[in-house]
Amino acid sequence: MMRAFCLALSLMLAAPAVAATERVGSIDGVAIIDRLDVADLPAGQVQRFWFRAGETAIAQSWYVPVIVVKGARPGPKLLLTAAIHGDELNGIDVIHQLVAGLDPAQMAGTLVGVPGLNTPGLLQSTREWTPDDSRASPNLNREMPGAEGGPGIADYAGRLWNRLLRPNADQAVDLHTQSRGTAYVLYAFASTPRARVIAELMRPDILKLDQGEKGTVENEMVRAGVPAITLELGTPEVFDAAMVKRGVAGITNLLREMQMLPGDVIKGQAGFTGNKLTPVRAPRAGFAHLLVPLGAAVTRGQPIATISDAFGRLTDTIPAPATGHINTVFTDPRRARGGMIARIVYWSDDPACREGC
Ligand SMILES: [Zn+2]
Repeated sequence: MMRAFCLALSLMLAAPAVAATERVGSIDGVAIIDRLDVADLPAGQVQRFWFRAGETAIAQSWYVPVIVVKGARPGPKLLLTAAIHGDELNGIDVIHQLVAGLDPAQMAGTLVGVPGLNTPGLLQSTREWTPDDSRASPNLNREMPGAEGGPGIADYAGRLWNRLLRPNADQAVDLHTQSRGTAYVLYAFASTPRARVIAELMRPDILKLDQGEKGTVENEMVRAGVPAITLELGTPEVFDAAMVKRGVAGITNLLREMQMLPGDVIKGQAGFTGNKLTPVRAPRAGFAHLLVPLGAAVTRGQPIATISDAFGRLTDTIPAPATGHINTVFTDPRRARGGMIARIVYWSDDPACREGC
C-alpha cells in the first residue's frame, strides 16, 4: 500500500503539473526558450523568441525564431510554419509581412509564426536537414513527431514537435515552395473536410485532395486532431512579391474566418480541384522546352513539351498523359532520360481516389 502510494507520489512529482514556457536565457534581448506555452504569455502583445531546437555537432545550439501575436481577447491558436525545407523561402516572408500588419489589440486568439524551421538547411540553401549521419537524405518534413534524445534530426524534430508546434496549434498551415530547379503555382494539399475549407480560403490556383505522407507537419497534425494544410507558394530560393502577397491575403482570410481578426471573409475557392497527380517524363535525355505555361489547362494527347539534343535538334514531342492542370514545371531544362518535365493534377472518377490518391 505504502509502496503504491510512494510510486504514485514519485510519478506525480516527475510529471510537470502544467507545460509552461521555459526561458533559459536571452540573445540581444530576445528570450531563449526550451518550451513554449502561449497560454502563459500576456494578452494583447507581440513576443519574439529563440527556440532551442537541439545541439549541433560542435556542442552549440540550433536556434529557431518564433513570433507570437497574442490577441487582446481569447480565441483559437493558429500555427504558421515555414522553411522546413531550407531552400523554400516565400513562407518566411509571408510570416514576416503578415505579423508586421497585425495589431494584437484588434485580435482574438493567438498566431504562432515560425519563420524558418530548418536552420541548418536554410544556412546551406538545401531542402534537406543537414548535417546528420543518421539519415542518407534527411528530410525534416518526414520526421515528425520526432524522438527527443534520438540521433540529430530525430531529436530536432521531437523537440520542435513536443515543445513548440503541437502544444500551440488548434489549426495549422505549413508553408512551402517547390524545390530547386522547379516551380509550383499557388498550390494546396488537403486531406480532411476542414483542411479543404482552410485550403480553399487560401484561394489557390490548384487544390489537390491528398492523403499525404507520414511524418509531415500537415499529416502528423491531422493525425493529432489538428486541421492542417500544406501550402506551396511558387519557386524556391526567392522572395516572390506576388506570391507572398497572395499568401498573406490567404492567411488573413483564414484569420477572419476563424474570427481571430475582424473583417469580411472572401469566399474560399480553388481555381481547380483534383485528386490525382501524374508526372510527365522525358523519353530521352536532352534539353526540355515547355510548350504550355505553369498552371495551364491541358488535354490528354496535347503536345506540352519538346526535347532537343546537344546540337539543338528536336528529338521528341511529349503529349500530356492526362486532361488536367499543370501544377509543377521543371525550370531547369537539362533532363536525364526519365527525368520529370512537369506534373499534371487531374480529377479521377475512381471511387478509391475520392479523397485523393
Ligand atoms: Zn517543401
